[in-house]
Amino acid sequence: MDSPSYTPQDAPVPEGVVVVERASSAQELAPKLNRTAADVIRFLLEQGEMVTATQSLSDDMIELFAAEVGAQVHMVDPGEEQEVELRKRLGADLFDDEDDDDAPLRPPVITVMGHVDHGKTKLLDRIRSSHVVEGEAGGITQHIGAYQVSLDGRMLTFIDTPGHEAFTAMRARGADATDIVVLVVAADDGVMPQTIEAISHARAADVPIVVAINKIDRENADPTRVLTQLAEHGLVPESWGGDVIVNEISALENIGIDELLESLFVVADVEDLRSSPEGRARGVVLESNLDVGRGPIATVLVQRGTLRVGDPGVAGAAVGRVRALVNDRGETVDEAPPSTPVVVLGLSEVPQAGDEFIVAPDEKIAKSVAQQRGHWHRVASIAGTAAAAAGSGAKLEDLFAQIQAGEAATLNLLVKADVTGSLGAVVESLKKLERDDVKLAFVHKGVGAITEGDIQLAATTGSIVIGFNVRPDRRVRDIAVEQEVEIRTYEIIYKLLEDVESAMLGMLAPEIEEVVTGEAEVREIFRVPRVGAIAGCLVQSGTITRGSKVRFLRDGTIIWKGEISSLKRFADDVTEVRSGYECGIGLSDFQDLKAGDVIETFDERVIERT
Ligand code: GDP
Repeated sequence: MDSPSYTPQDAPVPEGVVVVERASSAQELAPKLNRTAADVIRFLLEQGEMVTATQSLSDDMIELFAAEVGAQVHMVDPGEEQEVELRKRLGADLFDDEDDDDAPLRPPVITVMGHVDHGKTKLLDRIRSSHVVEGEAGGITQHIGAYQVSLDGRMLTFIDTPGHEAFTAMRARGADATDIVVLVVAADDGVMPQTIEAISHARAADVPIVVAINKIDRENADPTRVLTQLAEHGLVPESWGGDVIVNEISALENIGIDELLESLFVVADVEDLRSSPEGRARGVVLESNLDVGRGPIATVLVQRGTLRVGDPGVAGAAVGRVRALVNDRGETVDEAPPSTPVVVLGLSEVPQAGDEFIVAPDEKIAKSVAQQRGHWHRVASIAGTAAAAAGSGAKLEDLFAQIQAGEAATLNLLVKADVTGSLGAVVESLKKLERDDVKLAFVHKGVGAITEGDIQLAATTGSIVIGFNVRPDRRVRDIAVEQEVEIRTYEIIYKLLEDVESAMLGMLAPEIEEVVTGEAEVREIFRVPRVGAIAGCLVQSGTITRGSKVRFLRDGTIIWKGEISSLKRFADDVTEVRSGYECGIGLSDFQDLKAGDVIETFDERVIERT
């Protein structure tokens, strides 16, 4: 008779860490742990999980079984393991440890970042129009995602999408395309939230920053104030004894542009950017789309080797012989050396921005690699892990496990708060919690709502996002879930410190999760005699229910918290109003609402920790 309880078999479990693919079936998992599929199924059945031999198992099930047989598993996404092998077949692994010391210098690749309206686009346009490389046909510059300019015979490559979203999105996919960041700060506006974000993004990527104080033509320009503000964020200008090159420019009036380019050369020389133009090309896809006339097209930034017409290229699951190369002036060219952006025609499908582009040793290898990648992409999307592949998923509750593992643990934090004062207070008090075995690293500190950029930065750096008196909106919450980034929001510093401290001790209490139940936007405020103010709202998602807990948000910042006291549809009192309908929400205690504010209702729910 079968024993009712599962007993681990005698066969030894393989030593060390066993690599297991996410969504493996019992049949696939068992042999890796020296067991049979029946062992896995029987064990899971005892845990109350009924699975078949070929059914995909969840991460939890795999880990549970591994723990039962005393194995340590490392989970990878489908295709991740095979990718190492595929890159080997392309010969790409040889590029990775290539020694470029003797190779010739290559043009630096530059990304322009800074706060909105500080003049990033204007600067990119100005540089392009005044320094475009003379083409044979005198071609007109095209938007292909990057362009090259020359000054005194030396070349520079500019990535044409200003801002840090693209920069960080690329990094999230493992592609580091940028050598130097130009940080644009308007002289009349000074350091603003996105300036600080840009600094954090550049730092996280370990990319040097050159500052361009723009709009110095403006009457109210105050470059000295900008310098002071930058110094407060750790960017100390050379003139003050620091190492940051600062240029005063006017993109509009064409002042200081050449000097800015010259300082980029200075930094490029320090960085000693070299790359061999010999051999097969490797690069990164900057942009891609499906062109009606020309089929799939991709702008590739060549990073090593020389890309030529006729080369068999692979990018992700896209493959093809290069049919034509088009440069940033719309001219067809035969080849593209390092740091050159070119449009590549002839691929079988549209690759993704951030994909590595590699010229294969021959067409057969190119095709088989692309085919296998296509297969794994499909498996991954079926397993639903494709989106998660980008995320790194740091969790506060995992901290203790890290500490226990022996090595000093570092908790990466991205902190956002409503005002500078509270931001400083939060950061300072968190720092006091540091111990020898647990360090805190602040990847970014900023004021304002939690944004998509924050989530991307957190995903690439494995950080937890902490919001103090600020909240992410629905879209940002969704992105965080997709990227597996943990967002923890607080309104009381003490509570935040308590959580971080307990996490360090491995005693994080069950979390009270706030589930947002409804969101309404304020359209108009009515004053009703004796009743007070009523906010005329449109419910945008979920359901607004009378008596539920509520928060008022302005630009993502919490301005009030309380309960809904009255809820009306036209003149009638109602208990709930659904998405898509208008309603009047009574504001007995709080009167200071404006059109555009958001009223968010929520429930609290306890989630037990695993
Ligand atoms: P971006 O959002 O950073 O890309 O900013 P834009 O390049 O779109 O510039 C925002 C506004 O500032 C535009 O109206 C520009 O014409 C203006 N602007 C840009 N550079 C300068 C400058 O050097 N001086 C002045 N006075 N205005 C500028």
